[in-house]
Amino acid sequence: MTFSHSNLRRFSCALLASVVVSSAQTISIEEFEPKSTLRVSEHLLTRAKFPFIDVHNHQRDVTPGKLDQLIRDMDALNMGILINSPVGGGSGKWVADAHTAMKARDARRFAVMTNIDYTNLEDPGYPARAAAQVEADIKAGAIGLKVWKHLGMLLFDSKGRVPVDDPRFDAVWEVCAKYKIPVLIHTADPWGLFQPMDKYNERWLELKLRAGRNQSNQHQFTWEQLINEQHNLFARHPNTLFINAHLGWLGHDLGKLGELLDRLPNVNVEIGAVTSEIGRQPRASHRFFVKYQDRILFGKDAYNVAEYGVYFRLLETDDDYFDPIRKYHGIWKLYGLALPDEVLKKVYYKNALRLFPGLSSEGFPE
Ligand SMILES: [Zn+2]
Repeated sequence: MTFSHSNLRRFSCALLASVVVSSAQTISIEEFEPKSTLRVSEHLLTRAKFPFIDVHNHQRDVTPGKLDQLIRDMDALNMGILINSPVGGGSGKWVADAHTAMKARDARRFAVMTNIDYTNLEDPGYPARAAAQVEADIKAGAIGLKVWKHLGMLLFDSKGRVPVDDPRFDAVWEVCAKYKIPVLIHTADPWGLFQPMDKYNERWLELKLRAGRNQSNQHQFTWEQLINEQHNLFARHPNTLFINAHLGWLGHDLGKLGELLDRLPNVNVEIGAVTSEIGRQPRASHRFFVKYQDRILFGKDAYNVAEYGVYFRLLETDDDYFDPIRKYHGIWKLYGLALPDEVLKKVYYKNALRLFPGLSSEGFPE
């Protein structure tokens, strides 16, 4: 085929136009931010309807200035009590110091948890020593034990990976049972982060933006294995109270989570970082919250004052189609559950007051 000069120019203009059109038609997921045309009532809450207890909160800095700022934040949010836990590596001196500092600022509004000390795990005396440390921390003021996903995913000894239900920690769980100290435990991560990063993966964007969270290329463990180990741990220690953080990463399968709660009365759940799971299934979530209203606690985990409003909106309102906290937790909108007051009160504070010994009920309504 031959082109005349003008034909060639027409051809290249058409080619250029098609490039412009096709690039406009291939924006990335990150760029896709459609402005909703939906006009429905909105309730942008900045304060909870009832005072609440945040059972999953990490504040490493407990200096007086920081605690003053926290009290101001808490007053604005209507957070009655902040339960501060070290993510990992906080036991002994850290717990005693944090307890002293926080209680000095406001004995009623703050409480602390401790961690398991994993050092020298292979010593024959380890189980007794770890349990004694937790017991000492309880006596120094810790009201709970926080276990991070480190256990199961990152903790290794000379024989390999240390499973979540490793018997070397049995004495620790029994100390917690003895003192009725709840164990707030975070095991594994969302299921999608363990699956191939392909177009079918709901966590595709998170895998793109947070490549370090990709567990699909390692062969040490599967998601199912970690979750089974955790459930086995719960079953083996029926006298220990567990709070399974992040809905035990079963927010996408509330039926299965309900079966766990039905089977094991020592297990409770916490809702930190799973608003996108709860808010995409408002009817199923509402049924779940009503059915398990005595087993669900409020926790936020990542501390960000502005983000609490999404939790309040999710639990309290019947708002439709509102923005999630993180787009990479799921590329969809949220819907409020409009929970009845009696359920809200349990999730916000009544369950925490019941589970945690030593919290003051002062300031919380009947
Ligand atoms: Zn946490």
